[in-house]
Amino acid sequence: MNGAVSFLVIALISAAPALAQSLPEKSEPVVQYRIRVTLDPAKHQLAGKQTLIWRNPSTADAVQELQFHLYLNAFKNTKSTFMKESGGQLRGDEMAKDAWGWIDVTSITTASGADLKPTLAFIQPDDGNKDDQTVVKATLPEPVPPGGSVTLEMAFTSQLPQVFARTGYKDDFYLAGQWFPKLGVYEPAGMRGRETGGWNCHQFHATSEFYADFGSYAVDITVPSDYVLGATGERTGERKNGNGTTTYTYEQADIHDFAWTADPDFVVVTAKFSATQDVTPAEYERIAKLLGRTLDEVKLSDVDITVLLQPDHRPQAQRHVDAAKAGLKWYGLWYGRYPYKTLTVVDPAPGAFGAGGMEYPTFITAGSAWLFNRWPFDKIRLVEEVTVHEFGHQFWYGMVANNEFEEAWLDEGLNTWSTGKAMVAAYGADATIMEFLGIRMGDRDMSRASNDPMARYNRVLADSWDYTPPGAYGFYSYYKPSLVLSTLEGYIGEQAMARLMRTYHERWRFKHPRSEDFFTLVNEVTGQDWSWYFDQVIRGTDIVDYDIGSARTRPKRAARGVFDEGARRGTVSDTDAAAKDLEAERAKKQVYESIVVVRRSGGVKLPVEVAFKFEGKPAERQSWDGREPTKIFRFERPEKLEWVDVDPDREIALDVNWVNNGRRLERDSRPAANWTARWLFLLQNIFTTLGLL
Ligand SMILES: [Zn+2]
Repeated sequence: MNGAVSFLVIALISAAPALAQSLPEKSEPVVQYRIRVTLDPAKHQLAGKQTLIWRNPSTADAVQELQFHLYLNAFKNTKSTFMKESGGQLRGDEMAKDAWGWIDVTSITTASGADLKPTLAFIQPDDGNKDDQTVVKATLPEPVPPGGSVTLEMAFTSQLPQVFARTGYKDDFYLAGQWFPKLGVYEPAGMRGRETGGWNCHQFHATSEFYADFGSYAVDITVPSDYVLGATGERTGERKNGNGTTTYTYEQADIHDFAWTADPDFVVVTAKFSATQDVTPAEYERIAKLLGRTLDEVKLSDVDITVLLQPDHRPQAQRHVDAAKAGLKWYGLWYGRYPYKTLTVVDPAPGAFGAGGMEYPTFITAGSAWLFNRWPFDKIRLVEEVTVHEFGHQFWYGMVANNEFEEAWLDEGLNTWSTGKAMVAAYGADATIMEFLGIRMGDRDMSRASNDPMARYNRVLADSWDYTPPGAYGFYSYYKPSLVLSTLEGYIGEQAMARLMRTYHERWRFKHPRSEDFFTLVNEVTGQDWSWYFDQVIRGTDIVDYDIGSARTRPKRAARGVFDEGARRGTVSDTDAAAKDLEAERAKKQVYESIVVVRRSGGVKLPVEVAFKFEGKPAERQSWDGREPTKIFRFERPEKLEWVDVDPDREIALDVNWVNNGRRLERDSRPAANWTARWLFLLQNIFTTLGLL
């Protein structure tokens, strides 16, 4: 906890209870998908059939309309909302010419034979763009009663696009994500703060991800027999069809999406995460103590890891396995056991980088390059960073399943923060991104480098397509909230923070939380009201910047001038006073007057500590609530003030500039320190100029 704002922290330590709570083992399933799909590699098409059972989760509403995501229609033409917003490029990848993607629902009937096809209608709940076909509604002949269910038989054809945004093909590499008609989420009144029940089914946007209900999937995937296949869940069947194709069956419960990949060139690397060999008894004990949980509660389970690697990345096999294990271990220990038996890590083909860096339940895509095989580039930990991050989404998105359309920070922000923690635990502090020819850079440096002083026009809490410019999504949903959490940890300390995150995971595992639920829990775990904090840094737009406005220290001079003492008037001449000053100086009895102006240059008001170092004395600290724009500190002491530093432990990670936090009063002894901070400030200016962040 180291310093921070001690008056707050003292109150908090006593208030951090051990909120022991069992870890939910299962979801309450709403959907059940049974899908049979066949890949036609010549056309890059999927022919699919699905039986879908939907349970009406409401206890009050009879529901007659169903809403489905048809994500692939984002790639149908230039008039889709996705294409309009993205301009046909995402994360640096561009859409290939004439490589469109689409999905057609070719039939849809109820189990009792009612044909719903004539009722299908595209809707555009977000932007009214009539050309967007990423959401379709179907109307049932009669409503599904509260708690009742409906079974649908559907057939569909999916034309995969050439991959540039997560899903599609590149030569004979396939990454099938968002490839089937998927139901939106019916939210009953009360869920996520809703006043009335209704569907939550957003269009596909350039900067939005996903939201779906928990349930079970059983999927038969038929591909040419020479293809290597990987998918969400456990492989429970494999059947050669005698026509050059093989059908694989995958099954998994307690998930809300299903993805798969196929490529004849994959190198298959398998490994086992062992709950007894990959975690030491001392580590179990340390984490149980940190969390205030029993050893039993933090116990992990074994997981089969499969890495599907590009042949020329073979030397990086162990790095992928180690990173996957680091994720399973640290996220599992801190937040709760990874409950699935499998984890598949996909290394996309060259030219399919747009499929990399994505998360699906029990299935993640990383991404690497041949360059990273060799020294010194093997010390740039991008493979590890991406693998740990995407794995981390199993917790924040996968199990704790926030609405990524509306509150992306709840998974991306929490996960960016968690990735940093896990990388430090696995690879050492300050070196998690790279340890490259003498340059060390960690996750927090990376988040801080993107914290632009001009980034004061958006709220973290916003619909993901509403950030301006659209590129701001990355900063406001990943980096800023990660810094918000680091700063919170600075205030409440490591243990309270660890217990908070653990409790949040336990309480919302296999559920759909919203931001308010997180805020409420922070108050509950710390026993303090933190709304002043989240109102500013999650709901507000402004920035944090503390700096030293001015600082001076000088000998206090003897009084001069005309003085009245009762009826008598006397004069102290400048010569007399100067002689007194000289005498005091010779006798070393000089008093120094030190005046420091600390400024809050950003709009966000946070309590902060200021450290003052006087000659020959240990540094001392004072607290400032940061409410006014400036605060003047005055001292009269026998010692000169040597330096002053606001937020001396650099715990307010949200501060946009740490270079201006400290001031040394004697220039010649200016420390060589702070070079990292200066370098980062420069880097952040370069990034901003280039429009990279
Ligand atoms: Zn992410």
